[in-house]
Order: sequence, then C-alpha cells, then structure tokens
Amino acid sequence: MQGLTMDDYPLTLTTVARRAEQFHGAREIISRRPDQSIHRTTYSDVLHRARRLAGALADLGVGDGDYVATLMWNQAEHLECYFAIPGMGAVLHTLNPRLHPDELGYIVNHAQDKVIVVDETLLPILAGFSAARQFEHVIVVTHDEPAPEGMLRYEDVVASSEPIRWPEVDERQAAASCYTSGTTGRPKGVVYSHRAALLHALGASLPDALGISSRDTVLPVVPMFHANAWGIPYAAALSGAGIVFPGQHLDAVNVLDLLADERVTMTAGVPTVWMAMLAALDAESQRWDLGRLHTLIVGGAAVPPAVIKGFDAHGLRVLHAWGMTETSPLGSVCHVPSHLEGAEESAVDAYRARQGAAVPLVEIRAKDDEGVEVPWDDTTMGELEVRGPWVASGYHGGEGADKFTADGWFQTGDVVTINAYGCLKIWDRSKDLVKSGGEWISSVDLENLLMAHPAVAEAAVIAMPDEKWGERPLGVIAFVDGRTATDEELREHLSTDFAKWQLPTKFEIVEAIPRTATGKWKKTDLRAQFVPGGVPTAPGGSAA
Ligand code: AMP
Repeated sequence: MQGLTMDDYPLTLTTVARRAEQFHGAREIISRRPDQSIHRTTYSDVLHRARRLAGALADLGVGDGDYVATLMWNQAEHLECYFAIPGMGAVLHTLNPRLHPDELGYIVNHAQDKVIVVDETLLPILAGFSAARQFEHVIVVTHDEPAPEGMLRYEDVVASSEPIRWPEVDERQAAASCYTSGTTGRPKGVVYSHRAALLHALGASLPDALGISSRDTVLPVVPMFHANAWGIPYAAALSGAGIVFPGQHLDAVNVLDLLADERVTMTAGVPTVWMAMLAALDAESQRWDLGRLHTLIVGGAAVPPAVIKGFDAHGLRVLHAWGMTETSPLGSVCHVPSHLEGAEESAVDAYRARQGAAVPLVEIRAKDDEGVEVPWDDTTMGELEVRGPWVASGYHGGEGADKFTADGWFQTGDVVTINAYGCLKIWDRSKDLVKSGGEWISSVDLENLLMAHPAVAEAAVIAMPDEKWGERPLGVIAFVDGRTATDEELREHLSTDFAKWQLPTKFEIVEAIPRTATGKWKKTDLRAQFVPGGVPTAPGGSAA
C-alpha cells in the first residue's frame, strides 16, 4: 500500500512558464533581427505574449495533441511558440530549414502538422514544400511588412486574444517533436513529453551538467530546430538565465559581437561553429572583450583537441557534451574529475576531448557484437545504449523499433569505450569505425589530428574496403586557402600518435567536406563518391 506520500505535482512546461513569468520576469531576452538590429524584451513580456498566442491558436482551431510546426530561427517569437504551443496542450514541431524540400514535405505530412509559424525570411523555404501539405493556417513572423495573401501576420494573431491561464496538461502528454536528421533512411520523429522536457531542464541545470543558473546569460548558437536547442531555452527559463538569440546571423563575427556586447556567460553549438570562431579570434584577439564568457558548450560531434587548446589560449573554457535528438539531447558532459586534479596537462587534455560521464538519471551501458555488455575497462569497445526519463522509448508512428531493446534501452549507434568512472569515449558511429586486420582504427582521432595540421581546414576519414585487411582508412581533406601538404607529410604528421598500419593509405582532396543539415560531415556522400559501390561498411564487432 502506498499511503500518503508526496504531492503528485505535474512535471509540465507550464510550470516552467509560470515560474519564468513570476520569478524571472525582468530578465532580458535579446534577439538579433534579420536587418541586424537588436530587439530587447523580457521573460515577462514573452510569457504574457505566449499566453495570448495560446489563446489565439485555440481560436484558430488548434486543440489538444494537434501539431503546430515552426520554421524559424532563434529569436524571441520562437521562444513564445516554445511555451504557447505545449502550454495549451498542442505539440511544438520544430522544422529544420536546412533540410531538402522533399524531406520537409515528408516530415510535415508524417507529423500531420495542422498550422505552421514561419519567419518571413524563410518563406522561400516554405514555398519549396508547401505543396506537400495543406496547412489550415500559415502564420508569418514579419516585422514591418504585412503577411502575404492567404497568410496570417504573427503580431495580429498574438493581439487577437486575451492572455489565457495555462490549462492543466498531463505530464506524459506530447509537448514537442523533432525529426532526426539521420544520414540514411527517412527522418524519424522523436516526441518529447512535458515530463521529459522539464526533467531535462532540471538535469541540464545541474553544476556537473551544463550548470545554467540565474546569473547566466546564454547564447544558443545551436538552432532551436535541433533537439530544442539542446533544451537550453527551457533550462534558461527554469533557472532564470537571460537569453541572447542570434537569429539567422550565425557567422563568427556576428556571434562574437553578440557575445561581447551582451556580456554573454555561456554559449553552445557544434564544433564547426567554434572552429570558425577560433579562427576569427586568432586573427583579431583584441577585438572582442569576452571577459564574462565562462563556458562554450560544444557537442553534436567530437570536438578536436586542437580546438579545446585553441580556446584555452584565449582564456575560454570548452565544455564537451554528448547527446542525440533521441536523448533530448543531453546524455553526457565532460567535466575534469577530481581525481585528475594536479595530473599532467597532457592527461587532462586527453580527458577533456572525451564525451564525459552520463548526467544524473541517464544510464549507460555498451554491448559488443554478441550483445554482451562490455566491461568499463576503457579498452573494450561496444555500442552505447542509454535509458532515462528524457530518452525516447520509440519514434512517432512506431518506426525504428529495432533501435530499442526488449528491456527498454535505446541503441545509439555510437561505438564507445567506458572507463572505470563511467566516462565515455566515442570512437565513431558504428558504421564509420575502420577495422583493419581485425584491429580498430578511430576515424575520429585521425580526423582530429589531421585538423591540427596547419594546412588542413577540414578532414574526414572513411573506411575503404580492402582485400587484404578488410578495410583501410581513406582521408578526405580540404586544405586551408593557399596551403597544401603531400600525402607523405600528412602521414608523417599523424605518425606522432598513430602506428604505421593505422595511417590512411590514401588521401583525396576536396574543396569542402559535405555536411549534413546540422553541420556534421556527411559521410554517406563521401562514401558514395569514393568507395566503390558506395556501400557503407557494416559495424565490425568488438575490438577483440
Ligand atoms: P543528432 O541526433 O543529430 O544530434 O546526432 C547524434 C549523434 O551525433 C550521436 O549519436 C553521435 O554520433 C554524434 N555526437 C553527438 N555529440 C557528440 C560528441 N560530443 N562527440 C562525438 N559525437 C557526437
């Protein structure tokens, strides 16, 4: 018998919205507009308008469980949608404008989006897939212009309703959805519940996670259409951190200007963003006063150690995190642990490039090819599996069920070793790991070291089928403008860290490495281009 215990308090995003409005009302929300001007508002205003928008959407026929899409950059109006849509019981479905129109058409139909909110600057993208779906309403965020014929103007919609009181929503109800960018196959929909989003916001705020607090001002470079901007808007609202939104202006100089001018303390994005920023800082280090900036959260792909050290030189701390769309996305964060205090710099540097320990409430294990759990010996590789309150239990429509184990764990497709402290090191996505003569070669490590070569701008390593060895690594290189290096020079550079048999047999030179919509190397394209038959290599097995 349960007896009387604690209040079964609902873990919903309306709780976050109410708190932000009541407790953090005066905190600033800053957005860079399409014309580069700066727009300043507050949580109080954003949440008040979100309650109006929620009422207006209900008047337009949006009901409980309906999907409302957003096609928007990072800005205050998007934050309003982040609260209005889940808060009224509907589902916020963020769309990635970088996807191919066919893919967007597929996604909006698969999700059955009823209404779409779109930035005026993204109307041409909408035009590319709008024939695929009959939206009941298209709401356009425009700052001066009227909405195009047949569409509604966002400001008119917001003004059309009184602010509602947030209704009671069930914590297990869908709050938001994001489709995985996936390098192969059709995108799959991850559906975040209120409970997951709230617990993720709490978890992300812990000091050994991202440590977001009311003293922070956060600038998410990571787009709000990618795993809810890593949950940062909800974590910031819960904690009372100010937010600075860069809008569509994501180039290094614009971001650096905002970081300095708005006295930002934390920022977050994928490594490619920081590589560009580091180059800008190296070129003009005196130009920006980043004295308040204490943390650059880097995730989405492995951060090259050269980038960590590069920011160290500017007195800026890189915090490496791992996650997936399916994990809301926070899975692990790499904080240097107490047992490494006073350790040699090289040991600490090597540690910081790891993906880190799973954050509280996320459980991890890794399994070898036979499905046997590997020991946490930092040597035996296995595919990482995770579970926890903000990890998906399936995809929208029941697709991709084979990624979930019978006992409820999600198979990440990342091949890892785990050390005795539970700290992960990702060696690769399973299909990208190179297995030569029965031994593993980390393409990630090869790429990182290649990118530390002064002539190399971008490097990707893929597995080439090899008659003798099974597979051999192929290095695909884009050189820095005006620089070059011979295959021998590149191999010599790598030989500091790699055995001779681990060095790429061959290099191919390209103008630029193709990227996925989220900025990662698109290895499927490289395989199609360079691997005979273009077939991705299947996962190879354990290191044994
Ligand atoms: P996505 O769902 O698009 O965010 O992609 C998630 C995948 O990105 C993970 O399964 C990893 O393969 C990769 N990834 C994310 N963070 C990292 C990281 N810190 N280091 C290496 N790979 C990462």
